Amino acid sequence: MLKGIAASQGIAIAKVYKLVQPVVEVTQTEADPEKELAKLDAAFKKTVADIEKIKAVASKSLKAEELAIFDAHLMMANDPEFRNMIEDEIRNSKVNAEFAAKSVADNMVSMFEAMDDEYMRGRAADIKDVSFRLLCNLAGKEIPNLATLDEPVVIVAKDLTPSDTGSLNKEFAKGFATEVGGRTSHSAIMARSLEIPAVVGVKGILDTANAGDTVILDALNGEVILNPSEDQIKEYTAKQEAFLKEKEALKAMKDQPSVSTDGHKVLLVGNIGSPADVEGVIDNGGEGVGLFRTEFLYMKSEDDFPNEETQFAAYRQVLEGMKGKPVVIRTLDIGGDKKLKYYSFPEEMNPFLGVRAIRFCLQRKDIFRTQLRALLRASAYGHLCIMFPMIATVNEFREARALYDEERANLIKEGVKVGDDVEVGCMIEIPAAAVLADQLSKYADFFSIGTNDLIQYSMAADRMSQAVSYLYQPLNPSILRLVKMTIDGAHKNGKWCGMCGEMAGDELAAPVLLGLGLDEFSMSATSILRARKMINGLSYEEMKTMAAKAVELDRMEDVVDLVKKSIAK
Ligand code: PEP
Ligand code: MG
Repeated sequence: MLKGIAASQGIAIAKVYKLVQPVVEVTQTEADPEKELAKLDAAFKKTVADIEKIKAVASKSLKAEELAIFDAHLMMANDPEFRNMIEDEIRNSKVNAEFAAKSVADNMVSMFEAMDDEYMRGRAADIKDVSFRLLCNLAGKEIPNLATLDEPVVIVAKDLTPSDTGSLNKEFAKGFATEVGGRTSHSAIMARSLEIPAVVGVKGILDTANAGDTVILDALNGEVILNPSEDQIKEYTAKQEAFLKEKEALKAMKDQPSVSTDGHKVLLVGNIGSPADVEGVIDNGGEGVGLFRTEFLYMKSEDDFPNEETQFAAYRQVLEGMKGKPVVIRTLDIGGDKKLKYYSFPEEMNPFLGVRAIRFCLQRKDIFRTQLRALLRASAYGHLCIMFPMIATVNEFREARALYDEERANLIKEGVKVGDDVEVGCMIEIPAAAVLADQLSKYADFFSIGTNDLIQYSMAADRMSQAVSYLYQPLNPSILRLVKMTIDGAHKNGKWCGMCGEMAGDELAAPVLLGLGLDEFSMSATSILRARKMINGLSYEEMKTMAAKAVELDRMEDVVDLVKKSIAK
């Protein structure tokens, strides 16, 4: 058995299809430019036609946002500058088209890979993908085409490129196992979106697997079993059926309320990073959006802070997409590890403890006011809740809220329509704010607990550091006490309390959070239905008793035991 990382849940049992890319050896030869230019022209035409064909197949199963990758490839294949550089090389150096194409592409790849900007570095992969196709077409070699599969297979490859994943025909591609990759690699993200089981980072799979071997892909546990026994096939077929049955059953919960067995209702909502993510929240039965991280809008922008119109359009799209369901939009949380291309933050010894989020916005009120105006204008199109990140003191919250009130009054004076049910909330992600929640809730309409930061700051453990990652302990009684204080603090003044950190989607934390009285759980869209199933099977009264015990325990391990025992009943 080979081990890897379960990147997209499910189980597949089928024949191995080895996706081995053709090898194109390129050597430099002297050649007649006219002939080479004609060859190049034909190869470019075929490259464009190939990508268009793959895009057409992919458009049956991928979302518009995921299809954008093919547009990027088409743009590259149609880019006159890229083509001119190769043609110039052919004319000036009188070399063969393959050599000219490879040297131009290699240069571009190294240039993009050396860039500081992560987005631009990512473009290097697009250039590699397109230029490889061009080289194969020049060399007359076919790239295996997954769109032409005609029997059920598990694809085994070093890695899958976006064109590979895009051309997967779900009828026959039952799953894939790759040598490289992690949970957030491109192929893993695509697999989750296509709902195809995938195990990535399986070292040795290419050497061990032979085309036509039977393989069991257990993408629940990250295991690959080559040439399994009859008994193993029976065992995993049963597991697969159970998994599919559970998935089907979960779908039935899509339009159900999230309510405990004794009638206590909560809201299960989704975290999003862009308007395009709204579709996933709706598809997975989300009852709203609990966190729209607006910084992505700012990070995507190339040369300046996004203007009021651009922001208004994005916020409006989300609110309209959610059709009146609550949408919590967080104001700009930038700084720390989140940088902008067009703005240099002053150097700080500890950027995570420095000018980030609301601290930045209160220093740059011009930028903050623009966002508040865009949000307020969008509020006419749905149920908007605005929240401020990284609030440490009552004064910070009041100052931010005063700016909001001013901009609201300004817009009304200008005759602009704004929503009359906008709620203004406070993120609780700094221990000082959690401890003072009962005071903060006099001024805020709601709270949302950002446990990713709350845990980092409570444990004094950098959330980016692998070495201290053992201190990420959502179920440590210390964290549970802070969460309890926050929820109780909100309720004391009749306000609601949500949670949008990763803890909200943690299956072991959910029963305790329910018992502590959390009103809203915001998580990645694909976790919502499983969480609903869990909550709809729990008794609120029992979880209340359990949570009261949990906060009195010593260690995270004790809480984990208590939770497991109380949900096993
Ligand atoms: C959090 O800190 O828990 C949170 C939701 O915000 P972010 O992860 O964006 O810092
Ligand atoms: Mg945070």
